[in-house]
Amino acid sequence: MLFLGIDFGTSGGRGIVINDKEEIITQVNFSFHQQNTNNLAQTWKHTLYILLENISTEIRNKIEAIAINGTSSTVLFCNSKGEPIDEPILYNDSRDVSILEKFQNIIPQNHLVNSSTSSLVKLLSWEQINKRENNSYFLHQADWLGFLLHGKLGISDYHNALKLGYDVETLCYPHWLKALPINSVLPEILPPGTPIKTVSNEISERFKFPRNCLVCTGTTDSIAAFLASGVTQPGEGVTSLGSTLVLKLLSKTRVEDISSGIYSHRLGNLWLTGGASNTGGAVLKKIFSDEELEQFSQKINLDKPTELDYYPLLKSGERFPINNPKLLPKLEPIPDNKIEFLQGLLESMAKIEALGYKKLQKLGATPVSRVYTAGGGAKNKNWAKIRQYYLQVPVKISDSTEAAYGTALLAKRSQNK
Ligand code: ADP
Repeated sequence: MLFLGIDFGTSGGRGIVINDKEEIITQVNFSFHQQNTNNLAQTWKHTLYILLENISTEIRNKIEAIAINGTSSTVLFCNSKGEPIDEPILYNDSRDVSILEKFQNIIPQNHLVNSSTSSLVKLLSWEQINKRENNSYFLHQADWLGFLLHGKLGISDYHNALKLGYDVETLCYPHWLKALPINSVLPEILPPGTPIKTVSNEISERFKFPRNCLVCTGTTDSIAAFLASGVTQPGEGVTSLGSTLVLKLLSKTRVEDISSGIYSHRLGNLWLTGGASNTGGAVLKKIFSDEELEQFSQKINLDKPTELDYYPLLKSGERFPINNPKLLPKLEPIPDNKIEFLQGLLESMAKIEALGYKKLQKLGATPVSRVYTAGGGAKNKNWAKIRQYYLQVPVKISDSTEAAYGTALLAKRSQNK
């Protein structure tokens, strides 16, 4: 029995096939840049089919379930045949939030949807400009790609639908959302990884999938990467040390502080909470080359912490764990010794990370008991030791950070539903 997870990121697609022991059998990649088209939806469709073609027929023939993740809040509109009727709107494409003023008596203030990039704002602003025909559909990227395989429109999952305003606590659309003029276009929401339908006859014949191969509801790219880390227990967190510092914590309780950018996704009976700080590897990259980072890190004297106390930022402004849009970067004093400077920066970021988990705990989240690490900084073993000192819990490298692997796990677990 094999399971296929497909990840659509910002620059391309990736597919990973796993077996029932959750071992990787094969992986395929295809970049959007390898194609010569201005039509984004067509590029996605082409990428999906190329990914499938690049998996051997022998493997495709044994795939029992497929799930797809897309970038959160990337959406598109299509007609009753599933053909896009406009260009997709990307995850980072800001819309005019003044549209929210029109509905300010309906949409609760301080709700996650009140952001220029939320799916709801994209839907409302599109509706204002375009006249939607009856029988048209509003889909997230992952929903549409799934549709191409199973052929059923109007279905999404509660990870993609969080920024549409779906209530993940009561598992229904709240009354205020149903009072908006877009009510008729809202998709049916299922838990991520729920079997929707078998692959269509056309897809089964073209790619030689078994007739009963199931296509499941998907998730978002960052949740898929979290699933890949191997975290299953409340209290386990994943810190991503990329350009920025992103914390995710599995919790028994749902916590939210929208002003600090903290919110929770539902994960079965648990909650995936977290926040993103503007500190992170981008500051290190500005000061050191990758080789310097590697070499200097190895020379750090772990027995002798520096007294340096920085707040490393590229520019003013922080949201989490300190919510202060005017917070100034603090990168002084600069010691003569570059190794000591790096140590001070790594220690300061570790303190910000520890403060982040404390903030989540203070809001009611399950206390952190173990931290997995992803991103470019994960390979830095001495940084892991420094972080372990400040976090006071074991720090490990994630099993995998591949979103496609996390989505393949979702497809596999659909078998128990
Ligand atoms: P993103 O996808 O967020 O752009 P990545 O996960 O690719 O980032 O990580 C890149 C970051 O990793 C860079 O900002 C760089 O400073 C940092 N990085 C690279 N090597 C090291 C290292 N040895 N120690 C700490 N950080 C590192």
